[in-house]
Amino acid sequence: MDNKIYMIYGRDPLSMTRSLLEAVDAASLIGDRSSRIVIKPNFVIADRPENGAVTHTEITVAVIEYLHQNGFEDITVAEGSWVGSRTEDAFRLLDYYGLAKRYGIKLVDTKKDLFRRVESHGISMEIAETALSADFIINLPVLKGHCQTLMTHAMKNLKGFLSDRSKRDFHKFGLMKPIAAISDVIKCGLIISDSICGDLDFEEGGNPVETDRMMASTNAVLLDSYASSLMGYAPHDIGYLKVAHDWRIGDTDPSRAEVIALNTPVASNIRPKGEAQRLSRYTAPDDACSACFASLIHALKRLDDENLLSSLDKKIAIGQGYKGKSPELGVGSCCLAALHSVKGCPAKADDIINMLRSYLS
Ligand code: SF4
Repeated sequence: MDNKIYMIYGRDPLSMTRSLLEAVDAASLIGDRSSRIVIKPNFVIADRPENGAVTHTEITVAVIEYLHQNGFEDITVAEGSWVGSRTEDAFRLLDYYGLAKRYGIKLVDTKKDLFRRVESHGISMEIAETALSADFIINLPVLKGHCQTLMTHAMKNLKGFLSDRSKRDFHKFGLMKPIAAISDVIKCGLIISDSICGDLDFEEGGNPVETDRMMASTNAVLLDSYASSLMGYAPHDIGYLKVAHDWRIGDTDPSRAEVIALNTPVASNIRPKGEAQRLSRYTAPDDACSACFASLIHALKRLDDENLLSSLDKKIAIGQGYKGKSPELGVGSCCLAALHSVKGCPAKADDIINMLRSYLS
């Protein structure tokens, strides 16, 4: 299995997706021009992408246009919102009916699809026929927090292929084993991750964290493991990754990922909202890049969950404005002269947590 993860920074999902598709050479990955291609965004609910829950529509547009330009015509977008929400509402709000008309693609609300019962690792589930009969699946998850699984991304996004009955069963069985089990049935040929502004801790959004990055990989388990480290978790903190490791479904060691950055982050106007804004009172940004700042917010969130932040008496420096300065606490390569610093451009949340833990102890 390929261990490459392509990373790109920016605020334009359309051009970022195009660059990722070229970098991975998606046309060669798919191969046969007559392949039935299924694109799987995340519409857990009907909401705007800027709220942190759903895939940016521009990403799907870029994928469809790339596929057409490379001679692929059999394209379906398939998704089913969570139990209690109507997928059609998301299709309407996010202009998918318009896309279907403009590009001549098929649109499937998997809640209304035919289902086939499949068994994986002793777990029985009803999976949409559209997914099971696809030749190539392009998974477009949002990297965001989740109140039960802590993180949701490529593997958990497959839940949208289930019947509502199986979605309920997944919760009954505790989510972790079922998510690992469906990941062993549905193998995505390509994952393009929307990590533009995923939610800090809830899959339904509301607390988006501007991260301004996207990733591409062919390896869902390794990508999710790497993504967990970006959110300040170890892979074994995420229950379904632990199960994936135990069942040998894939490699969960993020250090084995070969991360290929297509560009470098640039300083941006940081505008934290909601919970991110509350946590940002511990920070002192000066020309910081969103990806670095998001890592700091995720690290602060992990430490806040452990009630460790009340003893933090210094603001944490971050950003290009600190080059050549020596603050007490600093994050990212721009702040390497800080008394307590974390390297990385951008810095990673798990490294920030380790530095702050040792500073606070
Ligand atoms: S280390 Fe500096 S330049 Fe690099 S991502 Fe962080 S703030 Fe931006």
